[in-house]
Amino acid sequence: MLRPVKLAILGVLRGSGIFRWLTNSRWRQERLLILCYHGTSLEDEHLWRPELYLQPQKLKQRLESLKKGQFSVLPLGEALQRLRAGTLPPRSIALTFDDGTYDFFRQAYPLLKHYGFPATVYQTTYYSAVKLPIFNLICSYMLWMRRGEVVAESDDLGLQAPLDLRTESSRSAVLGELMRTSEHRSGPEKDEIAAKLARVLNIDYERLRAKRILQLMNESELEEISRNGIDVQLHTHRHRTPEDETLFRNEIQENRLAISKATATEPVHFCYPSGVYHPAFLPWLRKENVASATTCDVGLADRGSESLLLPRFIDHQNRTQLEFESWITGVGDLLAVRRKAAEHV
Ligand SMILES: [Zn+2]
Repeated sequence: MLRPVKLAILGVLRGSGIFRWLTNSRWRQERLLILCYHGTSLEDEHLWRPELYLQPQKLKQRLESLKKGQFSVLPLGEALQRLRAGTLPPRSIALTFDDGTYDFFRQAYPLLKHYGFPATVYQTTYYSAVKLPIFNLICSYMLWMRRGEVVAESDDLGLQAPLDLRTESSRSAVLGELMRTSEHRSGPEKDEIAAKLARVLNIDYERLRAKRILQLMNESELEEISRNGIDVQLHTHRHRTPEDETLFRNEIQENRLAISKATATEPVHFCYPSGVYHPAFLPWLRKENVASATTCDVGLADRGSESLLLPRFIDHQNRTQLEFESWITGVGDLLAVRRKAAEHV
């Protein structure tokens, strides 16, 4: 369905009271909406990746609507238990944040505390320990900062000059070349490459580093949020899911070890990095005593949902308040089901 048409339909449904009716229905009470967020901008990250980031005021608006609509925001573990037992309270929601970037600590965490809402952070841990910006993301962000330009000088990086940063696809070609040439380097070596890229682009890398843009939370920050009602859970150590059992399980084990060390808890909930999953992963997750796993597939979870393939709704800068409301009430799920059914016809 075309987006303007869909939004117009949602507007009519909200105006006619369907949202209010469905949100209080038994159908909705038997379902859990797991909301998925990534980053909350420190500066202008939502303009760089609007589907990964959102502005703090937009997150505040979402939390305010959950409060006003008297939604039951539950800790993920409790929500999943009550979903299975059929004892969910009306309008159940679980909040999840992927990756565990520093901006969570700085922007989202104070808002969650203000509203008294529990949340789960799916924490990837390699860059948390090395305390450096995430290489592929900081490079992509810096190339975006110089969007529209053609940069002549790139000798330092061993890339083909000039660097054409005029379009999204030309920037992505430069990024791809940079990733290929630095593939087997260590984290600190990659960071030197990122610093060189900053010099070539005339960007103050020290400022970005000091502001901790695109860095992860460190051990003491994880300890603090965990002590204050934020549940820190699994997202692999290096944000990847190898299709080899030993390598895959190592990712979970290293991730769990780093989280346990910081928070003194034993994480058992998992989120597939980049939403990528494969049927072979399920028995490997069970062997690692993983109790639940969330995907990026859209939907509300019900009693029959596979625990290791739970759907979520990904919220971000480009989602309107109307779309958000359609999902928390359940209307969005009904429309999505109809669309999926139509695809099979
Ligand atoms: Zn992720």
